[in-house]
Amino acid sequence: MSKALQPVRGTRDLIGAEARLHQAVGDTARRIAGLYGFEEWFTPIFEDTRVFARGLGETSDVVSKEMYTFEDRGGESLTLRPENTAGVCRALVTNGLTQSLPQKVFYNGPMFRYERPQKGRYRQFYQIGMEVLGSAEPLSDAEVIAAGWHIIQSLGIADGVVLEINTLGDAESRDAYRAALVAYFGAHEEKLSADSRVRLAKNPLRILDSKDEGDRRLVAAAPVITEFLTPAARAHHEAVLRQLAAFGVPLRENPRIVRGLDYYSHTAFEFVTDRLGAQGTVMAGGRYNGLVEEMGGPATPSVGWAAGMDRLAMLMEAAGAAPAVVRPVAVLPMDEGAEAHAIEAAQALRQAGETAVMEYRGNLKRRMERANKAGARAAVLVAADGALQWKDLVTGEQRGITLGDLAGG
Ligand code: ATP
Ligand code: MG
Repeated sequence: MSKALQPVRGTRDLIGAEARLHQAVGDTARRIAGLYGFEEWFTPIFEDTRVFARGLGETSDVVSKEMYTFEDRGGESLTLRPENTAGVCRALVTNGLTQSLPQKVFYNGPMFRYERPQKGRYRQFYQIGMEVLGSAEPLSDAEVIAAGWHIIQSLGIADGVVLEINTLGDAESRDAYRAALVAYFGAHEEKLSADSRVRLAKNPLRILDSKDEGDRRLVAAAPVITEFLTPAARAHHEAVLRQLAAFGVPLRENPRIVRGLDYYSHTAFEFVTDRLGAQGTVMAGGRYNGLVEEMGGPATPSVGWAAGMDRLAMLMEAAGAAPAVVRPVAVLPMDEGAEAHAIEAAQALRQAGETAVMEYRGNLKRRMERANKAGARAAVLVAADGALQWKDLVTGEQRGITLGDLAGG
């Protein structure tokens, strides 16, 4: 035998309980998104590198150091998507949908970032996300956030998760704020990390998002944006807060939230928890007003979020909210001549929406053992003449039934 090949660092297989949790996150999110009128889009897992380089901004950590970029056999530079907002905006433009706004989009799928793998942080990870493309109204910010909270509640993990929200204002507010940050951090430049010294020159707001200890101490005393908001930016923010209260979403204002990507303006938010150690952000997003233009479309004010499914699944597990395993009905032919009748019985159960499993091999005793091992709640024993017995595997009770009883559910 050759040496077993291993999964690539930062990737993993989702099997069994982990797979069920992951699936529950996706199914629940899709269902709730539907309740809010969002439709699922499936966009490619790799795109022209420029989709992300332009969309996310050259100075973002994702573009500057985390992307899986490669040249394909045709010599084109392609990138495995590190996030999906840029891809959705690209799709809006290339499908001519900028004339049919707003578009309310849900997505679910793998993302790829070259990061240091640790608990809750992988190189292939999974996100769900929601975007409202083409609405500048504060109500779209509030509703997309409320839908996110609804998902968190439906997953049974709301306890210990809180919404932290901030505004980054409009361009005018941000210009004034940026000048104030440059003055403040400029006066402490020698104490900044090397990364943040680069940020000071290129995009000082990003220093607020730094994970460096020394930076964080400086950030704690930095000016906050609230003092620099224009009346219009302030009005937008206050409307979002008011509407979130109407939606019943509890929140905490946090003036330090800026988000890691370059495209945000106005609302920025994170759903955070202290139950996942260092990887405490489970859902994050905000308003972005320039991204569709970067993809060659018209100005299209938008708002949305993405959530790490891996982290949501970890919270579900910790909360004991793991989905129950379906207990099937086992169909057991009692001898060889019973096979066709057994197939008929299994199909009748499945038509009626029951999970039915066929045990393929062995004598009746062996098949019964395997049915019990599979967690079956009942067995249908099938005789060669087609006679059926229903055996409840919990109580042990047994009685004769007909095919019609099975089809009736
Ligand atoms: P972080 O600060 O944790 O690196 P981020 O700001 O880079 O997060 P976003 O780009 O906003 O994250 O992605 C949204 C969500 O996707 C995050 O809040 C997190 O739950 C999840 N996420 C991001 N990167 C990873 C990863 N490498 N592994 C697992 N989940 C991730
Ligand atoms: Mg990151």
